[in-house]
Amino acid sequence: MTNAATGFIDHSRILGVLENSCPPDKSEVEEILSHALEMKGISAVETERLLMAEDDELIDEICRAAHRIKTEIYGRRLVLFAPLYVSNLCRNDCLYCAFRKTNTAITRRTLTQDEIRRETENLVSQGHKRVLLVSGEGLGEDALDYSVRAIETIYDVKVGNGEIRRININIAPLPVEGFRRLKAAKIGTYQLFQETYHYDTYKKMHRSGPKSDYVNHLTAMDRAMEAGIDDVGVGVLFGLADYRFEIMALLQHVRHLEASFGVGPHTISIPRLEPAEGSDISRNPPFAVGDRDFRKIIAILRVSVPYTGMILSTRETAEMRREAFSLGISQISAGSRTNPGGYSENHSGAQFSLGDHRSLDEVIADIAAHGYVPSFCTGCYRLGRTGADFMDLAKPGLIQLYCLPNALTTFKEYLEDYAALDTKAAGEAVIRAQLANIPSDEVRKKTIRNLKEIESGKRDLYL
Ligand code: SAM
Ligand code: SF4
Repeated sequence: MTNAATGFIDHSRILGVLENSCPPDKSEVEEILSHALEMKGISAVETERLLMAEDDELIDEICRAAHRIKTEIYGRRLVLFAPLYVSNLCRNDCLYCAFRKTNTAITRRTLTQDEIRRETENLVSQGHKRVLLVSGEGLGEDALDYSVRAIETIYDVKVGNGEIRRININIAPLPVEGFRRLKAAKIGTYQLFQETYHYDTYKKMHRSGPKSDYVNHLTAMDRAMEAGIDDVGVGVLFGLADYRFEIMALLQHVRHLEASFGVGPHTISIPRLEPAEGSDISRNPPFAVGDRDFRKIIAILRVSVPYTGMILSTRETAEMRREAFSLGISQISAGSRTNPGGYSENHSGAQFSLGDHRSLDEVIADIAAHGYVPSFCTGCYRLGRTGADFMDLAKPGLIQLYCLPNALTTFKEYLEDYAALDTKAAGEAVIRAQLANIPSDEVRKKTIRNLKEIESGKRDLYL
């Protein structure tokens, strides 16, 4: 059943699969995974079958396939960003969120442009090059003007050799005209999570405010893409409904965008519900997702949509994050604060509690010690390689040809300008080792030249 209330999410099909499916056996899982390893994605039915797997051994097999796909397509790069929360005012009442309007336990605050500048200076001084601008939905009529001014302020900041080179944004859905203004302000990805695709759960979690309109929220990406924003980021807040329902519905969303615009989402975010001040549900999630199922979710998404980036935030602990990298995560936040002003001071209310409290440099040292390459690259977006053009690039081998060199040069900038001594030594070793993985002699030589130029003071070199 798809109907006006549930938009293009076919609830009866998903509920039918959940009610009637038995778990797959080993041979069925192996057959699906051999198809997945061709790295062209798998069918909706194949994903549904993997979701029904409950046997630990079979889940391990899915994780091994995901690891192979992740390594083959993305190599060992991990893109880093920081969220920048600018306002925790909100007129919605999402039961899981500390920012919801009826929560009196937090101090409310909207940053001035000067405060946004100060926060950005702090992030740039740590070495960040990408931010995710985040706010509640409480700014009323002025919301879009305020967000556009905030984007201008952030792009305007320069500290030493550093600046923010890509701003992604996670704010309430807009009409097409509003999205056109965000596009003109040069945002990277527009990000919005459906939270839960399960209609009845959605209605229970969002009882009042504009967000209570399921279809308006669901169709935000259609409007963003219609406005010319090529890169959109979707997501589920895991813990609200059966994760198997959520993944099937999320993939229906992906297929809907592919069918309508020729390209699916640029990224998928997979937050798990974390305790938030003044929210009972966040402490007792109705469908809590344990670590085993969380690994399964990441692995199944990686084999199902191999070219879509997957984002993990500091909601997760350092241990879970390390495991998640090997299963398919390609972007992570680091050194995050979820309260407006949190990088400069610590007064106003945070949105939820974090699992990883380490600084950016500590995260980078850890990533490098595990042989991953932290990347601050913003090359594709600045060269217009977005949407379908990016997806063409993201074929096996090509990421290694473009993204790896850019990861190495942006990591080198970080090591020159911001790293602690130990981090610098570990990072230089990673760069030396990874140069060998650039598949073209010519590109490798050019990258070595760029690395030398960065040592002698040049910045922002990319392919
Ligand atoms: N207000 C906009 C919205 O709701 O789409 C954007 C900002 S909201 C602060 C960003 C995301 O935080 C939400 O989409 C939700 O998934 C996530 N979030 C809210 N409460 C959370 C919690 N208790 N634990 C983990 N993530 C949470
Ligand atoms: Fe507001 Fe977003 Fe939090 Fe809901 S999730 S209360 S819309 S900030």
